[in-house]
Amino acid sequence: MNIPMPRAVMAALNRLNDCGYEAHVVGGCVRDALRGVPPSDYDKTTSALPAETEAVFENYKLIETGLKHGTVTVLIDGEPLEITTFRVDGEYEDHRRPKEVTFTRSLAEDLARRDFTVNAMAYSPREGLTDVFGGRDDLKKGIIRAVGDPDKRFNEDALRILRAMRFASTLDFSIDTATSDSMIKNRALLADVSAERIQVELTKLIIGKGCERILTDYAVILGQIIPELTPMIGFDQRNPHHIHDVYTHTVKAVCACPCDQNLRLAALLHDIGKPSTYSVGADGVGHFYGHSEKSVELAAVVLERLRTDVRSQKEILTLIKYHDPVIQCTEASVGRWARKLGVDMLMKLLELKAADNLAQAPEVAYRLKEYDRIREIMAEMLQKNACFSLRDLAINGDDLIALGYKAGKALGNTLSCLLDAVICGELPNQRDALSEQAVKLLGKAQD
Ligand code: ATP
Ligand code: MG
Repeated sequence: MNIPMPRAVMAALNRLNDCGYEAHVVGGCVRDALRGVPPSDYDKTTSALPAETEAVFENYKLIETGLKHGTVTVLIDGEPLEITTFRVDGEYEDHRRPKEVTFTRSLAEDLARRDFTVNAMAYSPREGLTDVFGGRDDLKKGIIRAVGDPDKRFNEDALRILRAMRFASTLDFSIDTATSDSMIKNRALLADVSAERIQVELTKLIIGKGCERILTDYAVILGQIIPELTPMIGFDQRNPHHIHDVYTHTVKAVCACPCDQNLRLAALLHDIGKPSTYSVGADGVGHFYGHSEKSVELAAVVLERLRTDVRSQKEILTLIKYHDPVIQCTEASVGRWARKLGVDMLMKLLELKAADNLAQAPEVAYRLKEYDRIREIMAEMLQKNACFSLRDLAINGDDLIALGYKAGKALGNTLSCLLDAVICGELPNQRDALSEQAVKLLGKAQD
């Protein structure tokens, strides 16, 4: 077996070997290479203690970060390479991180601290594969399995519960039964994990291939990290448009979205306001009046808590806010929406609406054709150079001032009216026609 690796990585391993130390690449890169996927980065590990690694690379530029955790950064061919000493984690504090780490000369001990068997393999060109826990076999079978006793491992670091779900989703693997049972049993430990770390795993999880299965099988864990999701689980909608409970509908909508993090987060949260806005009509049909607004309100709290960046928050909340209203298949309507949201956001919204429909009753699937039509209309309008923002309008504030307007509110209103008229097709986006209308409006403004 041969795992190809970048020249600088190979050079580093060779140099450590030549000085009498063991050196391997380890973890994700070995897993990915064995799956036939090019690794994104190469973690390097060695039996040399940090000071020994520094001595081995004394003629190179060294960056002294992470020394405490046994990591030395060496610049080889201008590229920074992190080399970490084999280590054993000490006692864990608060189900999060070890109190201290100790170094070891044993690769097997280093592998034993790693989370899952598929992540606990090492490789070196001289020694080949080191696979103490059957990672290669699990990789072949498509199984995520904790290294050692799952209860102990999840108690040490509860984030591993989410990492198991994330890897099972992105690799489309199943989770070993004992590991899976332990994840569910120990889910409350996630309360000790920081929101940032949860967010990172969650966003990777929801764009994975196995996302529908994982979100479904581990709904209770999702409810642990986002308690607002819990009332959705099994919530009967009693509505002819829906054949699934709110949570199942949500999961199907997430997975019907393209693999875009914000779009999928919006799908995950788009109906989060449904349980609290539920009412039953005289005819026994379930309704969720005002659920979009409620979803926005709850989603804002969730996203803030998860420390989602401000730009993403804004985008996700906009998508949730407008996921429900009907967009007419006319140039005027499409133009108005494009003006309100911008063309790119409108396209994203259509993706969310389509995913939402796909996750509803088959009877409402006719809407999908409408979304295709809206895309066509949009494309035709773009082709015609239609304008959707003041920036695209054939007249600007300076032009209006030249026509006698004063800078201020009336000028802004006029520009806005002109844009509306162009979007509705009442006026062409041409300077003369717009100037003429602006003069008329100026007259009105002075009446
Ligand atoms: P990715 O492709 O997402 O980077 P990865 O396997 O490289 O996957 P990292 O988070 O970069 O994942 O971690 C590198 C390696 O460190 C893992 O393969 C695993 O061996 C180990 N590891 C990372 N986080 C943990 C953890 N919380 N507990 C135990 N081992 C861990
Ligand atoms: Mg990695």
